[in-house]
Amino acid sequence: MTYVLRRFDPWGSPLCTCPPKYSLSPYTGCGHACRYCYITSYIRNGFNPRVKEKFLLHLRRDLVKADLSLPISIANSSDPYTPPEGVLKITRETLRMLSSFNAGVIIITKSNLVVRDLDILCRGRFTVSFTITTLNDVLARVLEPYAPPPYIRVEALRVLCRAGVPCSVRIDPIIPGVNDDFDSIKRIVSLVAELGVKHIVSSTYKAKPDNFNRVLEAFPEKADLFKRLYVEGGVKIGGVRYMGEKFRYSYMKMVKGLADDYGLTFSTCREGFRDLQSSETCDGTHLIPKG
Ligand code: SF4
Repeated sequence: MTYVLRRFDPWGSPLCTCPPKYSLSPYTGCGHACRYCYITSYIRNGFNPRVKEKFLLHLRRDLVKADLSLPISIANSSDPYTPPEGVLKITRETLRMLSSFNAGVIIITKSNLVVRDLDILCRGRFTVSFTITTLNDVLARVLEPYAPPPYIRVEALRVLCRAGVPCSVRIDPIIPGVNDDFDSIKRIVSLVAELGVKHIVSSTYKAKPDNFNRVLEAFPEKADLFKRLYVEGGVKIGGVRYMGEKFRYSYMKMVKGLADDYGLTFSTCREGFRDLQSSETCDGTHLIPKG
């Protein structure tokens, strides 16, 4: 039997601090084609999004049996607003169905298309987590070539916050030498705080062979830095290359300091730094309105 609603499984990562939840992806693969994305290491043709067969039928069946005291995270291996969604509206139908079950849902996206579904979001138990890795359009075009540019994401956040949808922002991943400078991150935090965002999640870049090649190709001048931090000084955890703990901790501490300064809660993602977490959950699911 094909289950589309599955318990979230961070591949046994000892550094994952997520609460129990379900993971749901209406699409297989994602068209945003982010350089740092890891889905291409386990999804064939990962940057070519396609709809799962009989997805909505299977979802209804799974929801009937699910423990809906747990939140549903949509999505962890593809953006639910990947480009074809503009026409196909599978995510829209998914949200409608989740709302009819009164499920608590966190939507993780880089797309302003989420605003299209505001009518559903305002009626149900939804929180939106927007990923913003930089406010620099040129850099964003290199990092996330087919995702909407940052200023469009910011406008979408503004609309969501104004409409009362609780939002968090993921500054994820932070790539050393690329989007890691203090002032740029401060600009993101201060801007989203002003919009009414409640929570920041951050994480450092994790290297797998395929995404590492893409990142190296985009920033050849950083090759020595990446090799020093990830290969010579890095550690392998669960098949993924991390920077050494000292570097990761100092990056995360910097972002937490900024979140504190602007009155936002903070957590890391797959870093294992529970001492830096100032929110009830790391992933932002605590922002889901109560049922
Ligand atoms: S939006 Fe997320 S899933 Fe899609 S390509 Fe970018 S990192 Fe991967």
